[in-house]
Amino acid sequence: TNRRWDDIWLAGLRDTAPSTIFDEIISGDIPADVVREDEHVLAFRDINPMAPVHVLIIPKDRAGLTSLRKATAEHTNILGRMLLAAGEIANDETLGFGDGARIVINDGPDGGQEVNHLHVHVLGGRKMGRTFG
Ligand code: 5GP
Repeated sequence: TNRRWDDIWLAGLRDTAPSTIFDEIISGDIPADVVREDEHVLAFRDINPMAPVHVLIIPKDRAGLTSLRKATAEHTNILGRMLLAAGEIANDETLGFGDGARIVINDGPDGGQEVNHLHVHVLGGRKMGRTFG
């Protein structure tokens, strides 16, 4: 819908950060295996999965949210929505795969972040180790 383009365009006005490949997924220019979508968040399968379940959850409006460290109180609502989606997706996607999942946010180059558009990783479908790499 036009709203997606509006979100991307407005984010570009509100935030000088360059757009990323995730904006192209939001706009539909790059296809993605979408797990869930609403007005605020989009969840899709990671193209290079690190576990049987590997879903990324992103805000459609990334303005101000290139990374979690940029978040402020104005982002409280979207951050809550992302975490709720993470829990629900972990439940839905790992049915039949034991009890648990790993929810991860990489932040900044030294935190392993490669795409500068906030995203929550939901990893599941296998038992996770105690190390974080
Ligand atoms: P980061 O390293 O920034 O925390 O995570 C970025 C994630 O995005 C990586 O796990 C990577 O595999 C995934 N990714 C990068 N480009 C694409 C893409 O075009 N499509 C999908 N579905 N995932 C992508």
